[in-house]
Amino acid sequence: MASITLQNLVKKFGETVTAVAGVDLDVSDGEFMVVVGPSGCGKTTTLNMISGFEEPTSGTMLIGDRVVNHLEPGDRGLGMVFQDLALFPHMTVFENIAFGLRVDKIVDTEVKERVSKVATTMKISHLLSKKPAQCSGGEAQRVALARTIITQPQVLLMDEPLSSLDAKLRIEMRTELKRLHEELKSTFVYVTHDQAEAMTMADRIMVMDRGYVQQIDTPLGIYRKPTNQFVGTFFGQPTMNIIPGRVENGGSPKFVSEHFEMSFAADAIPGSSIGKEINLGVRSENVSIGDEGAAAEVRLIEPLGDETLVFFSCGNEEFLVAKVDAEREFSPGNQIRFGFLPGGMHFFDVESGVRLE
Ligand code: ATP
Repeated sequence: MASITLQNLVKKFGETVTAVAGVDLDVSDGEFMVVVGPSGCGKTTTLNMISGFEEPTSGTMLIGDRVVNHLEPGDRGLGMVFQDLALFPHMTVFENIAFGLRVDKIVDTEVKERVSKVATTMKISHLLSKKPAQCSGGEAQRVALARTIITQPQVLLMDEPLSSLDAKLRIEMRTELKRLHEELKSTFVYVTHDQAEAMTMADRIMVMDRGYVQQIDTPLGIYRKPTNQFVGTFFGQPTMNIIPGRVENGGSPKFVSEHFEMSFAADAIPGSSIGKEINLGVRSENVSIGDEGAAAEVRLIEPLGDETLVFFSCGNEEFLVAKVDAEREFSPGNQIRFGFLPGGMHFFDVESGVRLE
């Protein structure tokens, strides 16, 4: 069993820095868990505690049903891949991959067999006689993965392994990693600051901010029902529109902002938001442009190919953004009307940022 359990895991550096402020997490056997958040939120420190490179200040870590707090990194049954691939430059790709098996004094025939098999899985059989410097960034990344998975770890820990690759390769490697996970069926814990990477690869995502866990859920669960404004705006491209205003209930409920107001059906508005100052969060795909709604002026257009981003404003300099079908044509200066799809509105408390239900 290669499940991972973190119980109230805390890491402090000195008196003043709390890098990880009490993480509770259960990663199931075979799950692909992505830990995501902005720089400095504590993701690497969390991973380093699981791997054994950092000692927790307090809390308990289990791999399977074994407490591993005091085990050396090498005794935890983990494989690790980092952004810095640390391939041995003087060795061939074959010897780099075989390194762990050589250390364990595995016989030559078995080494050849296992390197050949893992090279086929990682599609790098043609590179085995090359040196790492003769490989492209993506190829070197695959070599580093092959070197780790050849030791058949039950848990694979990865810290920003794709961040040094260019955008196209990163996207290709995301697919590779998902395929690899399907094939190996081992437990993956993957750290990244990139929300798109988290969304596309994870079974579940743990979102962190300033050392605290913000939400643990499936990618769609997080996208559709962010637990607070931080999570809502961290995920999604373009960033979720956030509109400060007030929810009033004069007959039918309405949202009143400084520059426009809109009425809604009673069931589109959470009861706890009525009478409150809130931040209304709406993703661009949930903004409709049509014949009805509040008046606005188109300010900028960004064609994406299949869709178009329309930036508009309501008599102020704050832009809102709508994602529309590419066939619909808009130009700066167009007078439009806009509304919000009822299921696509998120009501966040102004003070705490917490989602109101
Ligand atoms: P990044 O994406 O930039 O790597 P991160 O989310 O992985 O960020 P961590 O590296 O875990 O963040 O760091 C969390 C916090 O702990 C940061 O404020 C960082 O400055 C601090 N920190 C990390 N390591 C140490 C250390 N050895 N000594 C003191 N402070 C540290």
